[in-house]
Amino acid sequence: MQATIITQKMDKLEARINRLGRKAEKLGLPPVELIVGETRPETRKIDGREVRYFVTDVEIIGADVTPKINGWVFLAQLQHTPAGNIVRSFVENIGDDYRTAPADCDHCGHDRNRKTTYVLQNEETEETIQVGSTCVADFLRDVNAESIANYYANITIESFLSEDEFQGDDWNLSFGDSQTSIVEYFACVLTAVEVRGYHGSSSYETPTKFDAWDIYHLARKNWEGKITEASEKIALVRDYIASQERVNDYLHNMATILADDFMVNRSAGYVASVYPLWAKIVEQEVFEKTEKLESNWVGQPGEKIQNVELTLGRIFSWDTQYGVKELYKFADDAGNIYTWIPSTPPATKNTKIFLEEGCRYNMIVGTIKANAVYNGKKQNTIFRCKFDEILDN
Ligand SMILES: [Zn+2]
Repeated sequence: MQATIITQKMDKLEARINRLGRKAEKLGLPPVELIVGETRPETRKIDGREVRYFVTDVEIIGADVTPKINGWVFLAQLQHTPAGNIVRSFVENIGDDYRTAPADCDHCGHDRNRKTTYVLQNEETEETIQVGSTCVADFLRDVNAESIANYYANITIESFLSEDEFQGDDWNLSFGDSQTSIVEYFACVLTAVEVRGYHGSSSYETPTKFDAWDIYHLARKNWEGKITEASEKIALVRDYIASQERVNDYLHNMATILADDFMVNRSAGYVASVYPLWAKIVEQEVFEKTEKLESNWVGQPGEKIQNVELTLGRIFSWDTQYGVKELYKFADDAGNIYTWIPSTPPATKNTKIFLEEGCRYNMIVGTIKANAVYNGKKQNTIFRCKFDEILDN
């Protein structure tokens, strides 16, 4: 018998084969043998999500046998239930009649309540007979006849490799060793960041990687848009790593994970951290220009400034005992640097629009809070800011 089973069920199958081996030995029957073939990946959409899992081809020798004792061939085992007969057929095309056959025994003729009967056929005369399970040993003059018949009834294809157990229903596949689409998971990371900001694994706050799993398993808002955004951000990170001359272990592991389209679930922390890595890359790009220019103070503390076009270079966030704090670092086209700490992060609450690294905004109004110097560079600390929708990049 050849079959394809879910690879993560191989241990279970092997355990079952071993148990059968011990039974076979007791009954003096040849053992069932498992031959393991090729393992390969398959993908399936489960609940709208792309899931990858592995399947293995197996061959089972000695299962699906038609038992034969003293010139009589077993055609079927019938289990009689109030709802009808469960037919375990040892041969093909046993016919529909046995689905409704009464639990009679042609051997003893006694009328009694039987749970199991067997349909036998004489090898020479082709005469068929239905015999109750307790009479089978007497009829075939073999004390083990019932055990042998029952043993083989349990290793017919249908009962041995049931769909649910070994071929993998959707429920089984969405857990365990199945793998998750990196783009789909990262789309959930982006949604989580939008709502709560990014939190690494060591944060006091719930790490983004767990928020992302919640979103992955529950509702997903703006899913198509997020998938596109996730693909673009991952592509940028891949290109960045490829352009690096000296790659550290973190970047090496990240490149290895992102070289595939699917991840094992324990890589979720890495994939979640694509977000801060992406933000760092964007920050470098935004402030690279200003490195060559001089950053100046654009006004005195208390002064109002209006309609300044700013590019958001980086959002920093950190935990305090009062909650999360965020710092937004912008640059204008002249190379002047602006920093803003919104009073109630995330800044979305103050601005009504989601501010994203690498994007340009019109600051409708803002107030200079201080003329600061950081790392030898002049910076404009601003507050009471109002931003407009994203301008063209
Ligand atoms: Zn009987």
